[in-house]
Amino acid sequence: MKTHVKLMLAAFAAVFSASTAQSAPGAVRCGKLIDARAGRVLSDQVVVFDATGIITSVAADSPTTLPEGITAVDLSHATCLAGLIDVHTHLTSDPENLGYKGLGVSVPRTTVTGVKNARLTLLAGFTTVRNVGADGFSDVAVRDGINAGEIDGPRMLVSGPALGITGGHCDDTLLAYEYHHTSEGVADGPWAVREKVRQVIKYGADLIKICASGGVLSKGDLPGAPQYTLEEMQAIAAEAHKLGRKVAAHAHGTESIKDAIRAGIDSIEHSSLIDDEGIALAKQHGTFLVFDIYNDDYILSMGEKVGMLPESIEKEKALGRLQRENFRKAFQAGAKMAFGTDAGVYPHGTNAKQFAKMVEWGMQPMDAIRAATANAAELLGWADKVGEISKGHFADLIAVDGNPLSDVKTLENVQFVMKGGMVVKNGVK
Ligand SMILES: [Zn+2]
Repeated sequence: MKTHVKLMLAAFAAVFSASTAQSAPGAVRCGKLIDARAGRVLSDQVVVFDATGIITSVAADSPTTLPEGITAVDLSHATCLAGLIDVHTHLTSDPENLGYKGLGVSVPRTTVTGVKNARLTLLAGFTTVRNVGADGFSDVAVRDGINAGEIDGPRMLVSGPALGITGGHCDDTLLAYEYHHTSEGVADGPWAVREKVRQVIKYGADLIKICASGGVLSKGDLPGAPQYTLEEMQAIAAEAHKLGRKVAAHAHGTESIKDAIRAGIDSIEHSSLIDDEGIALAKQHGTFLVFDIYNDDYILSMGEKVGMLPESIEKEKALGRLQRENFRKAFQAGAKMAFGTDAGVYPHGTNAKQFAKMVEWGMQPMDAIRAATANAAELLGWADKVGEISKGHFADLIAVDGNPLSDVKTLENVQFVMKGGMVVKNGVK
């Protein structure tokens, strides 16, 4: 286990050392500060960070709190919280480019889309994302551009192409046989999937994304039907963990969810048809459940207009409500949950719309915020770096007018964004 952790740290060190950092120390004065990990709210706090953008102290405001020569950014009329984290995004996709229209979009073009969406996501208050599935390693290019300081965007953990079975959700089934087209991530059988894990890591993946079951936006498959076998997922998890990477499994289907958990996968994405046994297994294995319970509204209202397949809209109709009910069940049962939206299926920069859904379906605002900060950071393996405003963490901090604990929708309108001590947006009154 120790070697595993060490490898993981080595893998991520490169990502962090290259991050855009503040060049001088600084501070922020917060009227209210939400500490979601502890579930408490502090008043009149001063957050001080050093020239590398790391927080050096968080303390009650007093005449001696501020180090000499440092002026604090004044957020004394606002509520501060840790920069938000979305663990399920597709920055290089837009909803208009799903289905047949997407066949005419090149990988270089999707990279440009990713640059645009990285900025939108950061300005919306999401200072870290986990991007789970992109063609041609376009996500690696966006991540590296951000880390080099060339473009604006959140800290990114990226998967590259998602692994999937021939003809499955992560294969492209839109074209006829004579085009001989197969998606980059397709691999069948335990040794082939191990090779594919090695390959995506070779080209820059921080984590492995797989498709365990069928999906909604793919042609000709069933969301509830298993795709990868238990044996294949065990091989993927073993290979990925050996190489210091976590695995996220797309799984709507009841059996796929349980197989993925038993195989040692780190997070279940969508989790739509999870049953009581699945919830119990997730708790037992410490597996994170990620429920993208907002995008249903977008797919049903806009899907047809933006060119999603009619069968996709029918699948969403069958799944949407069940997913929300199971979200509530899993939360009440005490399963570990992280905030993930599937942005890309719906417009980027509106990730925070999911908070209100999470509250509507059983969470308190504090729980929803914890899912998008401390919990998400734990899933990413970055709990010591992001997800809370405390000493040793990056000065990734956002602020809103008003109180998200009484109206979680205030998070849809983030006025102040700081990443690593750098102010990227300041519209606080
Ligand atoms: Zn997705």
